[in-house]
Amino acid sequence: MPAKKPLPAKTAGASAARRPPKRLGLAGRVAMIAVVAAFVAAIAQWVITPILAQGEIRTQREVAVTSGASLLADVARVHAEAGHWSEIPVLVDALSNGLPGGQSAVFGADWALLARDGDPAALPPLRALEALARDPNGILNKGERYYAARPIIAHGKTFGYAVYSFLPRPFVDVWLTVVALNAMVLSLFLLAIAPLVYRLARHALKPVTLLERRIRSRDPKDKSKLADSSDDRLLKPLLTAIDEVHERSEAAMRRALTMAYTDPVTHLPNRLRFVSRLENVVASGQGVHLVICDLDKFRQVNVTYGPHFADKALGVVAERLRATAIAAKLSGFFIGRIGADQFGLLLPSTTDLNAAPFLKAAGAAIGEPIGLEDQVLRVTASFGCSSFPADAPTGPDLLKLAEVALKEAKRGGVQGIAFFDQRLLDKARAQTKLEEEVRVGIERGEFVAVFQPKVKLESGELVGAEALARWRRPDGAIVSPGVFIPIAEELGLIGTLGKQVMRDACFAAAGWNRKGIVSSVAVNVSPHQFDDPDFVSSVFQALDDSGLPPDLLELEITESAAVADADRVARTMWPLRNRGVRLAIDDFGTGHSNFAAITRLPFDVFKIDQQFVRALSTDPHAPAIVEMILAMAEALGQETVAEGVETKEQADFLLRRACTIGQGYYYSPPLPAAEFDAFVRSYRPRPADRFAA
Ligand code: C2E
Ligand code: MG
Ligand code: MG
Repeated sequence: MPAKKPLPAKTAGASAARRPPKRLGLAGRVAMIAVVAAFVAAIAQWVITPILAQGEIRTQREVAVTSGASLLADVARVHAEAGHWSEIPVLVDALSNGLPGGQSAVFGADWALLARDGDPAALPPLRALEALARDPNGILNKGERYYAARPIIAHGKTFGYAVYSFLPRPFVDVWLTVVALNAMVLSLFLLAIAPLVYRLARHALKPVTLLERRIRSRDPKDKSKLADSSDDRLLKPLLTAIDEVHERSEAAMRRALTMAYTDPVTHLPNRLRFVSRLENVVASGQGVHLVICDLDKFRQVNVTYGPHFADKALGVVAERLRATAIAAKLSGFFIGRIGADQFGLLLPSTTDLNAAPFLKAAGAAIGEPIGLEDQVLRVTASFGCSSFPADAPTGPDLLKLAEVALKEAKRGGVQGIAFFDQRLLDKARAQTKLEEEVRVGIERGEFVAVFQPKVKLESGELVGAEALARWRRPDGAIVSPGVFIPIAEELGLIGTLGKQVMRDACFAAAGWNRKGIVSSVAVNVSPHQFDDPDFVSSVFQALDDSGLPPDLLELEITESAAVADADRVARTMWPLRNRGVRLAIDDFGTGHSNFAAITRLPFDVFKIDQQFVRALSTDPHAPAIVEMILAMAEALGQETVAEGVETKEQADFLLRRACTIGQGYYYSPPLPAAEFDAFVRSYRPRPADRFAA
């Protein structure tokens, strides 16, 4: 293995740069705030003080200049009275040094200059000085300089005038100096006391810091109250509030978790929780049976009674499942609702032998009538079962295999129960492959109609044909509809397939009609085709395109489909019937006859199911059933077609019982369109014998 390269300096530098900046603690932040506040206060003071002090400064300057002038005049007077005139220049010189830019001058009574100090050009004109001397409070402000003049009076006589002036330092200079000094002193001071402030803040905030540390490091399972840990007068209410918020958020979290993992309808664990439980059990290595319990045709309950009623029914089913598991003393069972009409069961440590009786009992319990809102409902369930560790090593795989078993159970497992085994998986894979082939076959138009003649029993004359779908696969194999019709229905492709057969049949029959061969064609219609809103218009389209007169088309609907949703069938069929299309009820006798529904539907033809015809010679009850159906059809004024006529005896019997038309191998098997033409041309009528023994 190559040695690990050290990180390039650049990367190390970059990671250092990415490190989050160190943040100040609480006490540090308080100290920082105190320092900043001190600075802000000082700045405010530096700005405000000069504004407020401006008047005072001016007054001080005026006082200084008038005091200077008065002092000069007083001392000059003393010297004048004493006759010490020579002292006056010394006095002038001494006084002018007293203030910045100080200047003083002494004038005689006639305003002749006696002594002065400083620049004479800086003096105002004499006239201005005379006026200034006359005003006892007078001050002259020339530029930055201040002037004051006072008379020198001794013994009531004016000896002369004393003039004094000074040039104060510009205010801004003074201010900047003060500010600079102030800032320096303040900075030093703050630097010196910042650690102290920090320590004080830390001390003051110690309870809060401790509290913060405690909250952060608290064990989530620790249910003790924070408020109990402190007697601090200020902290106690805060801690109580934190406790309350904590409790509330925990309760909200518990509620959210319950909602996320529980099915609101049955109060059972939902799919999420069920799957997680399954995975936990698998991870623990414990043997378990995974069962998917699927309610049969429960969608119909939703459609018929509405979702509210259906939810209640689901609640009852859930309760029955639970009760059965408890009664069976299954220890450690787990039930969840894993789909709209599906429950999942985990049955630990049981063998197939133990699971089977429980599932039978559960199926029986679910199948008991359910009384709800004055209605009685019957629900049945199918169970698909897979086992760990025998069938699969993971939860998702077990679920998949239980689904495979469930499919088998739905197809006809023993009492709706199927346990997974490898053959089922092979079958499921083959089924998936077949489904794909059917899909492609429909796209490629591999489905065609073959035609089976229908014969008038009495005369043997050909009166029509039934179109039956065949799948001609690319390898030449012919597949019968028992294989592909259920797949096409399940895949939602029966509409497309049905339209192809319908057009084939209409075009073939229109051709025969033009040649005067046979008069009508019957086409089978799947109940799923009624879901297609374009169904009726597609039939009209096929009739129009082929030119087949509508009364030569007969649509066959199985009895079971007709009674399952009689209203819908009637709604769909009436427009067709009104246009002249004939309607036949197919496989009559197999569909739990609902006579009220059947008589409401606009049928013209009864087709007796071939099982009754076949049973004529073997089952002693069959003749009676056939007779009954024929009598009923006669009473309703409907034509009767017997399917599956294979022998002359059957044809004779049917004719004797007033059946009108026969169809079956006795006359001909279903034939491709081209062969059908040849068959018709060579056909010799085979009338049935009404009087045969
Ligand atoms: P079905 O409409 O009752 O058709 C009669 C079935 O009996 C046909 O089976 C036919 O070949 C068969 N048969 C006819 N004479 C005899 C006989 O003498 N003996 C025996 N044992 N059988 C006979 P096939 O063609 O396999 O069709 C089965 C079913 O598939 C049809 O029953 C029909 O319900 C459905 N089917 C066929 N074609 C279509 C179609 O285009 N659309 C729809 N939705 N269903 C179709
Ligand atoms: Mg039929
Ligand atoms: Mg039939």
